[in-house]
This record gives sequence, structure tokens and C-alpha cells, in this order.
Amino acid sequence: MNNKDFRKHAHKLVDWMADYLENKGSYPVSPDVQPGDIYQQIPKGAPELPESFDYIFQDFEQIIMPGMTHWQHPAFFGYFPANNSEPSILAEMLMSTLGAQCMSWLTSPAATELEEKVLEWLRDAKGLNSSWQGVIQDTASTATLCAILSARERASNFSINKDGFTGQEKYRIYSSSHVHSSVDKAMRIAGLGEANLVKVAVDKSHAMDLNSLSEAISADLMAGFTPLCVVSALGTTSSTAIDPVKEIGEICEEYELWHHIDAAYAGTALLLPECRWMLDNKVKADSYVFNPHKWMFTNFDCSVLYVKDAEYLVNTFSMTPEYLRTKQDEHVNNYRDWGIQLGRRFRALKLWFVLRSYGLEGIREKLRLHLSLSKKVANLVENHENLELLAPIPLNTICFRFVDKSLSEEKLNSLNAQWMHSVNATGKVFFTHTKLDGKYCIRWVIGQTDVSVNEIEMAWELLMEKLAELS
Ligand SMILES: *Cc1c(COP(=O)(O)O)cnc(C)c1O
Repeated sequence: MNNKDFRKHAHKLVDWMADYLENKGSYPVSPDVQPGDIYQQIPKGAPELPESFDYIFQDFEQIIMPGMTHWQHPAFFGYFPANNSEPSILAEMLMSTLGAQCMSWLTSPAATELEEKVLEWLRDAKGLNSSWQGVIQDTASTATLCAILSARERASNFSINKDGFTGQEKYRIYSSSHVHSSVDKAMRIAGLGEANLVKVAVDKSHAMDLNSLSEAISADLMAGFTPLCVVSALGTTSSTAIDPVKEIGEICEEYELWHHIDAAYAGTALLLPECRWMLDNKVKADSYVFNPHKWMFTNFDCSVLYVKDAEYLVNTFSMTPEYLRTKQDEHVNNYRDWGIQLGRRFRALKLWFVLRSYGLEGIREKLRLHLSLSKKVANLVENHENLELLAPIPLNTICFRFVDKSLSEEKLNSLNAQWMHSVNATGKVFFTHTKLDGKYCIRWVIGQTDVSVNEIEMAWELLMEKLAELS
């Protein structure tokens, strides 16, 4: 493609993008396709000869678009959002145009220094400890793995990195029973073994029970294990339960354990002073992760890891073969040393664009709207005689179900699943579910960039209509 054609197609694409964003609410949120439907429409082999951009784009519209789930739809209420915003998209366009690979300071000094600065902005705007240092990772899964590997290396005095496991290590990591699966996965990858993730009981609000944590650590010490780390959740994935991170930090200090806080989703709420109760900035923690790519209008991927002591991270991951050595190494951050991957995207640019374009106040305004819409939904559920909330609502995730005392739990589970699927099948909204204490419930997450009271009212009416059909 020559430059003239690029210019022509790019202008056309920008119009397409603006139209999409304007009309994103008119698409079915999730596609009506069966497994294999898309695959079989794509030719068996790559084309030998060049194809025109118009022809490629036509296939994008006809084959790909009908198979997309519209995550930016204002009535996408499933999982956690992966929301974007106009400034973030524009930054991505620039990033891919520059095509820079930002592994070292020298490979794009501006990328490293902007990353340092925007992570300080974010840290301070969230009221986090002002001595923490940050790095952008692709996902919270990777950030948590990095934290666990650093904890392992700190505890083994970097000997496992060097010599491998001796076979004598009996490290244990603690989390609540609602821990995100990325921690189980990190146990496997870090060589610690899934069986050594101790899942501590939760209280009625689904947050980690402190007595159970202390008991688990003491019992392990008696049994000859080496407690290594506690992963606490600031907002569990099921119900955004908030673990008592302050007290967990104190327990970690007492036993000299690494404390990693997983705030992947809920961490964004710390931009609101009224949500700071979740995390005192004197909290004792070694690492903390949150995803701007969930609820901070910065499109996937962008996950921020803060550490108390960057030395452990860098000593765990730093590798400098001759061909990567630069004369500035002593004086700069080479972010490749702060994580797993060598090559890095310039993700700080989109954070910078988002933060400046909204301003902190603009972001807070959106978050407060989401929280108030969630209160509205919580009230509707509470005032409905056949519905119940299954978890407290510290933020904007509402876990609720239909109940009827005459029915068995098993029957209720299948009825609630049926209810959710019938609502989703309309294509007008999209919910996902979880199970709390064995009870199937619909999870309604209100965090879309452009969600408004209109989608909330439409979704509620739809839920009521399908509930009536069910009964
Ligand atoms: C979403 C989520 C994760 C995983 O996030 P990725 O960035 O997709 O790896 C981890 N922990 C919690 C609590 C989450 O909600």
C-alpha cells in the first residue's frame, strides 16, 4: 500500500470508527453465531497475490463484524468492562504509526520517561504511597505473576532464579477462596504448585476472614511449610468484595510475607476520595496491581503494577546480554527489566491522552455516575419481592437472583441461568453470572464508558419481562 492509498483508506476508516462509536448501542451486544461459522467463511490459505484494501475491508464488515461481541456497547454488563474512549483510541493510532518497541530507555527515551511520569500522576491521584514505583504490564495476570516471582526470589535470596528449586522448598501463598484464577495460574508458572495456594475462608461479605488467614499461616508453620506471600483482593471478581488489606498488611509484616494487592478492577475507584476507605495509603504492601484497561477508559491492554521496592522486581527480571547493553544503563530505567517480556508497547501514551483529555475530574464524574446507577439498580432489586441481593455492593457490581422459597436451590440455579440466557438472547443487553455460596446469580456490572440511565431502565424492563415469562 503506498502512502497515497494509506491516506485515502485511513480517512475512510476514521469515518467508519466515528460512525461505529456513535452507533455502538444499535448492534446486538453479543453475536448470534455458532462455533465454526466464521472459520468456514475464511479461505483455506493466505492469498498469493495482493488484494485490494476495499475488498479486505468488505470482508471485515461482512465476515468479521457479525462475529464480534460489542464490548463498548453501553448495555454490555458482563464480566468486567474492557472499556475504551476516544482519546485512548487516538493514542493507539499514533502508537501503531510510530511502531516503536520500547524495551529500553534508549529505544525510545520519551516512552520510558512518560511512563514514569504518568504512573506518578496516577499513584498520587489515587492517594497511594508516594514512594511506590510503577511499571505498565499487559495484564493483571502478568503483573501478579511478576509479583509472585519477586516474592519467591526475595525469599530464596535469588537462588531459585540461579540454581532452580532444590526440591526442599515448601512455599505457601494465601488468598481468599474468591481469588482470581490468575493467581492459581501464577502458582503453576512460578513452579510453586497450585496445591500450595491456600484459599482462606471468607466472611459474610465474601471478604477474606482474618482469623482464618492467621490460623492457616500458623498451621503451615507447624507443618513445616514456608509462608511466602498473601494475595489480597481489592474487589474480587465475583462480587467486588474488599479484603481487609490494612490488617492483612499487618499480618504480612508480622510473618515477613510479601503482600500483593490485586485491585485489577476496583483500583480505579481510588481516584474518588469517597472510595479511599478501601485502601489507606499507609497500608503495608509490597506490590499492587490495577487495570486502567477495565474501568479507566483506556483500551486493552494496559495494566499498572506498583511496587514498594523496585529492586526486587529488577533483580528478579534483569538480564543484560551484551547486545542490549547501553551506555545510559546506570542512569535510567530500562523497563524490560521490570517484567517478563523484552519487547514493550508504548502504552503510557494512551494513559497520558486519557488523563489529560478527561482530566481527573472528568474521570471521577463518570465513576460517580456508575456508582449512582448501581445504587438505583440495588434499590430496584431490594424492593422486588421475588429478587434478592447475594452480596454487598461496595462499588458497581450487583449480584442478584430470583428466589422462591418453595423451590430447591438446584431448581433456583437452573431457573436463574435460564432467566439470564433469555435476556441475553435478545441481543439488547449482555450479562454474565457467578455463584456465591453455591447460588447462581446474575452479575450486573455498570462501568461502561457511555452507559446511562436509559440502558439501565431498558435492561430492567427486559429483565422483568423475561422473569414474567419464566414464572
Ligand atoms: C480481571 C481480573 C484479573 C485479570 O485481569 P487480566 O488483566 O485480564 O489478566 C485479575 N484479578 C482480578 C481481581 C480481576 O478482576
